[in-house]
Amino acid sequence: MSALYELVGRAEALIRDNSLPSVARWKEVTGGIAIGYMPVYVPREILHAQAVLPVGVFGGGEDLEIIRGDAFYQSYICHIPRSTIELGLNGSYDVLDGMIFPAICDVIRNLSGMWKLQFPAKLSRYLDVPQNFDPAIGGGFYRRELVELTLELEEHGARPYDADALRASIAAYNENRSLVRELDASRRLAPWKIPTSELYVVLRAALLLPVEAATTLFRDYLGLVRTENARRPLDQARVLVCGSFCEQPPLGLIKTLERSGCYIVDDEFLQIHRWIKGDVATAGDPLDALVTAFLNDAIESPVRYIGDRPKGAELVARVRASGAEGVLFCAPSFCDPALLDQPMAVKAMDAAGIPWTAFKYAENNGQFQVIREQAGTFADSIKLWSGV
Ligand code: SF4
Repeated sequence: MSALYELVGRAEALIRDNSLPSVARWKEVTGGIAIGYMPVYVPREILHAQAVLPVGVFGGGEDLEIIRGDAFYQSYICHIPRSTIELGLNGSYDVLDGMIFPAICDVIRNLSGMWKLQFPAKLSRYLDVPQNFDPAIGGGFYRRELVELTLELEEHGARPYDADALRASIAAYNENRSLVRELDASRRLAPWKIPTSELYVVLRAALLLPVEAATTLFRDYLGLVRTENARRPLDQARVLVCGSFCEQPPLGLIKTLERSGCYIVDDEFLQIHRWIKGDVATAGDPLDALVTAFLNDAIESPVRYIGDRPKGAELVARVRASGAEGVLFCAPSFCDPALLDQPMAVKAMDAAGIPWTAFKYAENNGQFQVIREQAGTFADSIKLWSGV
């Protein structure tokens, strides 16, 4: 097997094992604590600076049988909270010393409350984020949240907060994010060289690793795909996939979209990698730097308030920048933030003359035939009629 396929195979094995063996190994070696976080954004720099391993948890995927998780949620709620609670109750997350639930939606807020009741001895924090972007109001509020987080981590066994350590951690994550940007740019240029189904596996595995190891993984992957000459371009339609920022689609669904004739040239999977768009400042007060980045340099997302700015404008800009020929609205069933934003985003696509289609999934879907036909027809119609 080539080094490239070996690397991707190792990454896939990591993300398929819900019992987080890599986290257990890290704890054995370092004696540190590990804290899980739900997508889509948490300030991982703070955890890293306090010698905590931040662990991205993204639900149970296709392979998990839900036995107790369904009892916690109504049938008209998305799937990720029930698989997350299932993994907590079946012992898969015993290796985690706590969880952080960022303010994404009401479902995650409820999940954080349930987690507190089920695991009272562990850290369980709901991380509120500002919806006001005035530095004095929303910024001040978020800074206080971050300070409280540092104290709570320390109470649960983390190293005390230290500004110099946080500056170093910010630099480590800046380097990591710059590689994600490089990977994204390379995919835009040659999506046949970096299939999204493969990039996704690498990016997701990185969220289980210390940031230094994740950065090495990205570098190694980039080096291997650059020298991989067997991959040749096909006549596929370039698409942007949006709406899948929280509950993740099964890997099989991403592969299905590619096999149906689409090159995914931009997406919202694993949004935490791209939440902050540029580098966070490494000079001055590092907590202020994280706050400023959140207020002024974060992406538009259905879970982030954007005030009076027109919804969908950033999506149109991303379509243009990525050279996408169409948009696939691909949201989890019952995902309020994604599905409430969709009509406004669709309006923006129509106004800009960008073709789109929409479908829904759940993380445990096993059948993709209908989606394959829909995405395939969409790709064909782009190839046949766009620009006519
Ligand atoms: S999938 Fe959507 S509704 Fe469900 S927890 Fe995530 S953001 Fe909330």
